[in-house]
Amino acid sequence: MTSTVTVERIVDVHTHLYAEPDYSVESNLADFDVAEIAADYVNRLETSPVDHAIAIVMDESLVLDEDALSELVAARDASGLFSLVFLVDPFAADAEARIERAAEAGAVGIKLHPYQQNMGDADDFPRVAKVLRTAERHDLVTIIDAAYGETQMYNYNGVRLGHSMAKVVDSPILLAHGGAVKVLDAFSTAVTFDNVYLDTSFSIPYWEGSSVVQDYVFAMEKMSMDKWMWGTDIPYMGLEESLEAAQSLLVENELTDHADALFHENATALFDL
Ligand SMILES: [Zn+2]
Repeated sequence: MTSTVTVERIVDVHTHLYAEPDYSVESNLADFDVAEIAADYVNRLETSPVDHAIAIVMDESLVLDEDALSELVAARDASGLFSLVFLVDPFAADAEARIERAAEAGAVGIKLHPYQQNMGDADDFPRVAKVLRTAERHDLVTIIDAAYGETQMYNYNGVRLGHSMAKVVDSPILLAHGGAVKVLDAFSTAVTFDNVYLDTSFSIPYWEGSSVVQDYVFAMEKMSMDKWMWGTDIPYMGLEESLEAAQSLLVENELTDHADALFHENATALFDL
């Protein structure tokens, strides 16, 4: 870490439980040894500079698997090092019941992933809106994946989905990854709607050296740091490079006064950690 930036606490708003970047495991996590995967996750957190993390469960059905869910909840409660967010399929007939299960298990949020779930067109808005209203009733943050790229780049757009859903609910919507090359759209959304927040996960180290990072800086300066939070996207992006990229961004742009806001204060308030 750059020595000129010191923070009281570090909260990572975007992590995945499984140590390897293997989506086939993550999306079927309940089929694997959840207790062991959770123990390994906790072990890695214990030896990292991160004080608390949001673990995003990418297995849409895990909340229905009592054994897997209780193993995960036990690891969370014993360690106190992480909070849970569950991917929800808005098209599942029992989507609302699954959100209720997540809330009962003490989750802090749900996640929607337009690319992985092949959804987010205007046709899908009513169904997605129903899910957000349920999340709102249970005081859950909705994380919408707002990366931009890969094979579905022109099919789905998390920023557009977040913009539409911000009109439907007052509960918080976190645009994960801050929109990537759509960061200015994400910024305009967060400026327009009180309930829209952005995080830096994956994007800052990934786009380092490009003009995209300057747009992140612009968005931080223009709307203040109140709506930004730091994250990694581990294991799809490394911890050290995520920390270093954010630290040097703060130092180079004279934003170090906002380090505590970015690294923990905003996330602690948003997720009630
Ligand atoms: Zn992720």
